[in-house]
Amino acid sequence: MAEGDTILRAARRLEALVGETVAASAPNPRGRAAGIERLDGRRLERVESHGKNLLLRFDDLVLHSHMGMNGSWHVYPRGARWRKPRRSAWAVLAGERQEAVQFGGPTLRLLSASRAARDPQLARLGPDVLAPDFDPEAVIAAMRAEPGRGLGDALLDQTLVAGIGNIFKSEACFAARLDPWSPVGKLDDEQLLAVLTAAREQMLSAVASGRHTYAVYRARRPCPNCGGRIHARGQGDANRTTYWCPRCQR
Ligand SMILES: [Zn+2]
Repeated sequence: MAEGDTILRAARRLEALVGETVAASAPNPRGRAAGIERLDGRRLERVESHGKNLLLRFDDLVLHSHMGMNGSWHVYPRGARWRKPRRSAWAVLAGERQEAVQFGGPTLRLLSASRAARDPQLARLGPDVLAPDFDPEAVIAAMRAEPGRGLGDALLDQTLVAGIGNIFKSEACFAARLDPWSPVGKLDDEQLLAVLTAAREQMLSAVASGRHTYAVYRARRPCPNCGGRIHARGQGDANRTTYWCPRCQR
């Protein structure tokens, strides 16, 4: 699952093409259906990530991708061998020396800049947990509107805070020693600040290292703090598995 850290890393790799006029092609029919070829001959102005969404801005057009469980962006030197077959590429944006290639995912669409500005899917997103100006107080205030919501479920809600996925939901709750099943209304501001700060710090560290290290996620080892068994159970409407140590997190 691509979480905010993966998207931010992809955005940074794509920065290599900013300012370039790209040759655009869509080897896979899915990309042709999205109108990728309309980007041919346009200049990539800016790359933005917001939560799990990546926006490539070409003056009046915006390419929006959401990688979901299995989408990805690769950047290669031109002419280099790709790690996936050419026919599976939805979008190829070739600059002078490098090319960006997009594969799969739930969302790849081309919007006019004005439509992107009032797009409901993008407008609903909460503050980006990895943004330089991230304001946890705004997230805490939004969380207070639904006090009965479980902490783990609230952290995954992209309208409250954008970018946290299933891995960092569990890992941040463990780092803050908070029970992911605790209703947010039972937690004080300091506790919510601690879990949001933990998520941000863990994700920024994953952006820097390109690696994920897990304390509780997937429950492969006993709790690193108390040696007890890590529990796993589906949480929220989407029933995403939450991992936690009931002894350390209460
Ligand atoms: Zn423990």
